[in-house]
Amino acid sequence: MSDFDLIVVGGGIVGIATARAFARAFPGFTVGVLEKEPALACHQTGRNSGVIHAGVYYAPGSLKARFCREGSADTLAFCREHGIAFDQCGKLIVATEPAELPRLADLAARARANGLAIEEMDGPELARREPHIRGVAGFLVPSSGIVDYRAVTEAMAGELTGRGGTILTGAEVAGIAETAGGVTVETTRGRFRARHLVACAGLMADRLARMCGVRADFRIVPFRGEYYRLAKRRDHIVRHLIYPVPDPALPFLGVHLTRMIGGYVTVGPNAVLAFAREGYRFGDVSLRDLAEMLAYPGFRRTIARNLRSGLGEMRNSLSRRHYLALCQRYCPELTLDDLQPYRAGVRAQAVLRDGTLLHDFLIEGTAATIHVCNAPSPAATSAMPIARHILAHACQHWGLPAPLAA
Ligand SMILES: Cc1cc2nc3c(=O)[nH]c(=O)nc-3n(C[C@H](O)[C@H](O)[C@H](O)COP(=O)(O)OP(=O)(O)OC[C@H]3O[C@@H](n4cnc5c(N)ncnc54)[C@H](O)[C@@H]3O)c2cc1C
Repeated sequence: MSDFDLIVVGGGIVGIATARAFARAFPGFTVGVLEKEPALACHQTGRNSGVIHAGVYYAPGSLKARFCREGSADTLAFCREHGIAFDQCGKLIVATEPAELPRLADLAARARANGLAIEEMDGPELARREPHIRGVAGFLVPSSGIVDYRAVTEAMAGELTGRGGTILTGAEVAGIAETAGGVTVETTRGRFRARHLVACAGLMADRLARMCGVRADFRIVPFRGEYYRLAKRRDHIVRHLIYPVPDPALPFLGVHLTRMIGGYVTVGPNAVLAFAREGYRFGDVSLRDLAEMLAYPGFRRTIARNLRSGLGEMRNSLSRRHYLALCQRYCPELTLDDLQPYRAGVRAQAVLRDGTLLHDFLIEGTAATIHVCNAPSPAATSAMPIARHILAHACQHWGLPAPLAA
């Protein structure tokens, strides 16, 4: 006898959106979420930039490109429906030197290929729109916005429990056994049985995948994103989100100025290799996490390939002065006093055996389980389309009836 029809592991935005999608699609289906922390959204979901991405950067045709565009519309609609504060303040991507202009042009072409309306501008126009920002050219993506993803997750969780779903916090999954009848899950709150399981475990995705014998060969490498909050006197320094032109080889967008839904501005995040998966401070070290990383050839290859940029990130992490220099490239008037402490986040980044940092989302399954193996940014924006994709996979492979809605 099963405790649930479906167990979802992970109480971040992807897990909660997935549990909600199943509860909406199959009334009467029993859905249980197992989350190891005492509350929802404690990791990536509650420690990000809060940007509703429009879908500028992603390779046309990729899951990221499709889910980001759909997810942005879904997130705005969900916020309107649930009275959650958001602001479609737009994003300005800024080239700070002529050498960046070809990459800016490529990015503008990609934004258009992804169906976005953008507004290109030269340096003087940029200075007119954003008097505190300096650049040689840029383009505005008016549809980008900001929100608090923890609030979105909590509202989805409310909908889930309102439909009879169960959320168990403090329940860390330590083992999963797949049998002919479903799965048996060992947790710190006891043993649960279910017909099916979806794992949305973020920084622990590879461990959950290995418990179920998922074929994909990858490991999660944690990259800490450190932020500063700008001093209060800078709360109105920008009207839009201000982003640099990113390095296309890396799955990170670069240190940006972000207006936050609370009315203040942050700068960040950098991308520093973390020595612990949930290592929010430079000194946090987990011997288990480190040993696992070092033992994986893909990790050693990616470090060798990205050594120069990796060391640069470490230097900017250890020195506020160097971090400031990054921000001053497009906002020259910022000073050291403006950089005040703010919480960090850690990105779960999948690395393949050949050392590739996987840019796209990766979702894999076994007979009774589905695993979200790689859900980096913009997965907060894209949580609802990811959930629909998982639901479609489940209907196809688990013999579920056609869903009502998702
Ligand atoms: C610094 C930073 C900035 C970002 N900025 C943005 C942005 O502006 N816009 C955007 O769209 N995206 C952004 N992202 C990406 C986005 O936050 C993540 O892609 C998204 O939150 C992933 O959600 P998740 O539910 O998969 O993971 P998480 O939120 O990490 O949730 C996974 C959950 O699984 C739980 N868990 C893990 N192992 C177990 C276990 N064994 N048993 C039980 N529970 C377990 C964890 O405790 C956790 O709560 C950013 C990410 C970071 C780190």
